[in-house]
Amino acid sequence: MQESTVSKPIDAADELDAVIIGAGFAGLYQLHCLRDQLGMSVRVLEKADGVGGTWYWNRYPGARCDSESHAYAYYFSAELLEEWQWSERYPGHAEIVRYLNHVADKFDLRRNIQLSTKVVSAHYSEAANRWVVTTEAGEVVCATYLITAVGCLSAANVPDIDGLEDFKGQWYHTGLWPHDGVEFEGKRVGQIGTGSTGIQAAPVIAETARHLTVFQRTPNYSVPARNHVLSDDFKRHCRENHKDIKAIMHSTPNGHAFTISERKVFDVDAEERQAIYEDYWKDGGLRFRSCFQDLLADKAANDTAAEFLKSKIRGIVKDPETAAKLSSIDHPYATKRPPVDTNYFETFNRDNVSLVDIRANPIERITPDGIQTSAGHHELDIIVFATGYDAMTGPLLRLDIRGRDGQTLQDAWKEGPRTYLGLTVAGFPNMFTVTGPGSPSVLTNMPVAIEQHVEWITRCIQHMRQEGAERIEASPEAADLWVNHVNDAANATLLPQAGHSWYLGANIPGKPRMFMPYAGGMVRYRTICDAVANNGYEGFRRNDANASVPSAVASATVGPFTPNTEPAAPGI
Ligand code: NAP
Repeated sequence: MQESTVSKPIDAADELDAVIIGAGFAGLYQLHCLRDQLGMSVRVLEKADGVGGTWYWNRYPGARCDSESHAYAYYFSAELLEEWQWSERYPGHAEIVRYLNHVADKFDLRRNIQLSTKVVSAHYSEAANRWVVTTEAGEVVCATYLITAVGCLSAANVPDIDGLEDFKGQWYHTGLWPHDGVEFEGKRVGQIGTGSTGIQAAPVIAETARHLTVFQRTPNYSVPARNHVLSDDFKRHCRENHKDIKAIMHSTPNGHAFTISERKVFDVDAEERQAIYEDYWKDGGLRFRSCFQDLLADKAANDTAAEFLKSKIRGIVKDPETAAKLSSIDHPYATKRPPVDTNYFETFNRDNVSLVDIRANPIERITPDGIQTSAGHHELDIIVFATGYDAMTGPLLRLDIRGRDGQTLQDAWKEGPRTYLGLTVAGFPNMFTVTGPGSPSVLTNMPVAIEQHVEWITRCIQHMRQEGAERIEASPEAADLWVNHVNDAANATLLPQAGHSWYLGANIPGKPRMFMPYAGGMVRYRTICDAVANNGYEGFRRNDANASVPSAVASATVGPFTPNTEPAAPGI
């Protein structure tokens, strides 16, 4: 693919220093850094008609962040931290959208954000050393730098099930939820999927639906969220201590604002262990994962947590057959992203809710009136697909991105994603991928990862401009080293043992099986990224000169770990 295929000539295009795709957490902050710190001309192209990214789209019933609100925020601005107040322990989607709109206004970002603009392609022109970005409307924008801020969980996965086109009712994917809501009153609803989303949605849908049938392929652990309204004292504490809170978030592998215990599971006897699990269960949320440091490193240790959580399910769900289906979980705890719920298991005690095990009796097809499994037909008015995403790679591969010599990203990643630091791709000069595959993002509290990625990219571009370098590109050797390190980091944990996890791409038929996020923890990742920069951007070719060997990656270790550098606990 050569430049001639670009739909408009470059000299007819808008010229900018940088184009950012996406106006969520990442795109907004990247715009602020490049425009207001480096003085660059920047435009954000966003397909939605508002800012918010993930939270613009995810408005399904019960949509709420599992990271605690005081940690699910930008920490770059003391003023912002002191003026914004969250209302609940976990922020609901509407409050997060309000927050991001507040940020857009506060930093006067809107004037450089072009909404309702879907990018269809981004091609690198070697001759011009420019990225040529084309929108669905045929507009062409040209920039030295391309920064993708498209999210990791934004390419909705609607499974290819026979008959969907003939279904007479309505169907929705949770990640593309109608903004004027869905009326469930008096309806028979079928929900496919029991990941973090499905586990949040089912209890709320069940409150108004005539009947809710949950179609479960893989049963899941879940810990109660214990959401509550935040007290004035806690809000004041957050305002007055944000520096200390940030220090905690930057010291933990998962970027949350709580530390992970240094205790190991078998340091204590069974009785004490049970009491510890009970305490963390009562506290609720992702903190449960932090009660022992070795839950993701030692299968026998993990088994004790898994059994505790399974016994909770059996204790909550009254019908023994339903309880057995919900608790027959075959992966170690937290090797899939651990959901957090409000009354999920309790929902199955309602008369208007039933559970269908589609691993035992698979869906055969969707009929005009419902869903046919191998065991029978379920009449439905509405189908809710809580079936997740083509994660991490999907949002990038659905764009037509082409680098040097017209090489497509699809081609470069045909055997699985290959990045350097999760932020750059060999053969794609001056392109940066915020939260790209190979970054820790989805295994951490996302805003912490995003701030690190954006600040690293900003510093890199600043360095180039100071040096007069026009082009930076990861070397293939550096990418190979990084991919090996990402694999080693995952294999030092139990994470790959969940063979059906989206972390491995297993939820998408035909997707290469490869552990995508970096599981070495945010602290270690930050250290490596800083060392790469401090060593003169090792592993990068600048102005096509040879790249140095990335010693920071070559010498990076994986487990065993102290609490502050142990494998990341899955975050958002
Ligand atoms: P998910 O974790 O991928 O779960 C999708 C569910 O749909 C799984 O139960 C999956 O079963 C099922 N499924 C997928 N394809 C299917 C098919 N063809 N037939 C039947 N069942 C199918 O997706 P998600 O729940 O949307 O969550 C994705 C990620 O988003 C989370 O892991 C988390 O990182 C993030 N998230 C965060 C929050 C939050 O912070 N509040 C909320 C929601 C989501 P299998 O397990 O068998 O594949």
